[in-house]
Amino acid sequence: MNDYKHILVAVDFSTSTDQVLTKASNIAQRDKAKLTLMHVVEFLPPIDSIYGPIDANNWIINESEMLKHAEQSLQKLIEKKNLKNTDFKVRLGTPKHEISQFVKDQQCDLVVMGSHGRHGISALLGSTANAVLHAMPCDILTIKLER
Ligand code: AMP
Repeated sequence: MNDYKHILVAVDFSTSTDQVLTKASNIAQRDKAKLTLMHVVEFLPPIDSIYGPIDANNWIINESEMLKHAEQSLQKLIEKKNLKNTDFKVRLGTPKHEISQFVKDQQCDLVVMGSHGRHGISALLGSTANAVLHAMPCDILTIKLER
């Protein structure tokens, strides 16, 4: 098996994040690969059913706050786990699209993610792991989670 050079870890901040990250960082250490932690903020603007989209200035939390908060959380994860040669990225959109776009742009050769997370919008729309699997140009490792 070839060594991996750039590994992307899909982080959803669920209780399984530690398990997924531990596995990914072990592989990165073994292969001396670069690691990128990525979180996708899945955010649907609130819609008023009669009047259409609500003005962004009136949202209690806006997109830039969510992106900043996610970046800080990823930074804390990197420090907590003392990860070396590790970068982080936050994108706004759908995990399937954003993860596959990043993987193509940055030529990642492995994506590590949980078999489920089941939170937020993905709980309504179906498994992210399944969606990503069919869109990816590289290897994917799905970690069998304990619940
Ligand atoms: P789920 O589709 O919620 O069952 O999630 C399966 C896996 O996809 C999770 O364990 C994460 O690795 C990844 N994932 C889910 N949602 C996101 C997200 N918003 N950003 C990055 N990774 C995600």
